Amino acid sequence: MTIKVKDLQFEPFISHHSIEARVIELANRLTVDFHGKNPLFLSVLNGSFMFTSDLMKAFLSPCEISFIKLASYQGTESTGQVQTLIGLNNSIENRDVIIIEDIVDTGNTVKKILELVKDHKPASIQILTLLFKPEAFKEDFEIDYVGFEIENKFVVGYGLDYDGYGRNLDQIYVVV
Ligand code: 5GP
Repeated sequence: MTIKVKDLQFEPFISHHSIEARVIELANRLTVDFHGKNPLFLSVLNGSFMFTSDLMKAFLSPCEISFIKLASYQGTESTGQVQTLIGLNNSIENRDVIIIEDIVDTGNTVKKILELVKDHKPASIQILTLLFKPEAFKEDFEIDYVGFEIENKFVVGYGLDYDGYGRNLDQIYVVV
C-alpha cells in the first residue's frame, strides 16, 4: 500500500520484520567483535535514533552511548561551510568508537564525522550504517557494518525523514 509523506508518494520497501531481523544480526556480530572492549557507540542524530535504540537493546556486552549531531553553518569568510559535532567531547580518547549512521549515500557526511572524531584520538573507529547506497558512494574508506545495501533512490521511515516527516514510520518506504 502506498503512503503519502508531504507531497510525495512512497511504497513499502523494507518491512519492519526484515529490519528487526537484520538489526539483531548486526547486534550479535558487534557483541562478538567488541567482547570485553567496552565500546562507545556514537549515534548520529536525528536519523539514527530508532535504529540505535533497537540495536542497543540487542547488544549484549557492556558499552556506553553518546549522541552527536553535525552542525553546519555558513562562515563569515569565503571559506564556506564549517562543520562541528555537537555532543562530542574528550571522553572518546583511547576508546573503541562505533559511529552509528542511518544511511550513507555519497559518504560526504560520514567522512566529515570521521575527521572530527579522529581529532579526539580514539583507539579505533568503526562505521556502522543501517542503509548504504553503493552506487552513490564516492569515498575510498570502508564502511565496516552495513544493514542493507539499497539502490540509489530516496527512502523514508524508521528514523529517516522527508523534510522532517516520516521518521515515525516503523518500516522503510521508497519514493514511487
Ligand atoms: P551523504 O553525505 O552520504 O551523501 O548523505 C548522507 C545524508 O543524506 C544522510 O545522513 C541523510 O540525512 C541524507 N540522505 C541521503 N539519502 C537519503 C535517503 O534516501 N533518504 C533520506 N531520508 N535521507 C537521505
